[in-house]
Amino acid sequence: MSGSHPVGSLYLHVPFCARQCGYCDFAISVGRRADAEAWYGAVAQEWRRWREDADVHFTRPLETVYLGGGTPSMLGSDLALRVAEILDFSAGATPSEWTIEVNPESCDDALTRAWASAGVSRVSIGVQSFHEPTLTWMGRLHGSQGAETALTAAKRAGFASWSVDLMFGLPGHIGRDWRADLDRVLRFEPPHLSLYGLSVEEGTPLARRVAWGQVRPAPDERYREEYLYAAERLRAEGYEHYEVSSFAREGHRSRHNQVYWSGRPYLGLGNGAHSFLPPWRHWNERVWPDYRDAWASGTPRPAERECIDGEAAALERLWLDLRRIEGIERARLESAVLERWQASGLAESAGHDRIRLTPNGWLVLDELTVEASHRAATA
Ligand code: SF4
Repeated sequence: MSGSHPVGSLYLHVPFCARQCGYCDFAISVGRRADAEAWYGAVAQEWRRWREDADVHFTRPLETVYLGGGTPSMLGSDLALRVAEILDFSAGATPSEWTIEVNPESCDDALTRAWASAGVSRVSIGVQSFHEPTLTWMGRLHGSQGAETALTAAKRAGFASWSVDLMFGLPGHIGRDWRADLDRVLRFEPPHLSLYGLSVEEGTPLARRVAWGQVRPAPDERYREEYLYAAERLRAEGYEHYEVSSFAREGHRSRHNQVYWSGRPYLGLGNGAHSFLPPWRHWNERVWPDYRDAWASGTPRPAERECIDGEAAALERLWLDLRRIEGIERARLESAVLERWQASGLAESAGHDRIRLTPNGWLVLDELTVEASHRAATA
């Protein structure tokens, strides 16, 4: 099922959050306490099931492991050791990159030190902003001081790398100063930053507030201005803008995310997790109690799946290639498209036979992918 390529990357979804942020549409389960033992039990069983599948092979050690959520740090300092036990990271089998996402309100020195000594090599901290009214508006549980405490803890724990998430393109009435937030995060010299624009997702509390006229999303012009300002500022600070949303100091790119973008196989465990075992994309039961109960009773539903081939595969490949700094071969574009993109500053040369999108182009990545797709599908 995964072809001849062994799977070297694993994603584990930890669905627990103490509160739902207004914009969030992830597969989460909200409550003051995480259903920790049930989660360890369910993902251990799912992992065992995959290990017994004769069609799927894994590298040993795994190359990258990523625990995302939800709020993995709600599972506390034990999380890394428990996962290491489930995935059998014994004697030299720790992955080259092992990332765990943290939220500032559940991140301190004790947690980061415990994780670093268990073999975690990277944390990704969901700061989003340092501006108190913004954090309150988002529904986040941390304040600016909590964000700084978490950044300090990540910095001194001795991880090989660490990353910060910030969000831009917020509604104007909140009074958030994007430049001030960038200044503040840069004082901590993060090796990696991910910047995400706020989007209004169907079914979220934010979407309802927008529909009722209580919130007016940021105008396109400010979204664009903030993204372009950050791209320029971070480049001047020595960061490589190596993917639409990702900025890294030399040697600090996310290896795990590059697996997603390069089309290599990965396996996802946990509710709502996706896997790509070419040519198949799988996705697990999304609702945590349903996923939990199915594994607890030994009757998990097979993950749903879709074959990604032909035109769909070509379109996806193009979209993934265009989002990265390496770009695509010029030959995959019609010359009229190529000329238009370059003349309008949407793309630039990336070596004699390649082209890549500029930050201006990344702002309209989806449209450009569709524009280029006719030629790419036949290349
Ligand atoms: S912390 Fe993250 S996963 Fe949890 S509700 Fe907020 S945005 Fe969603």
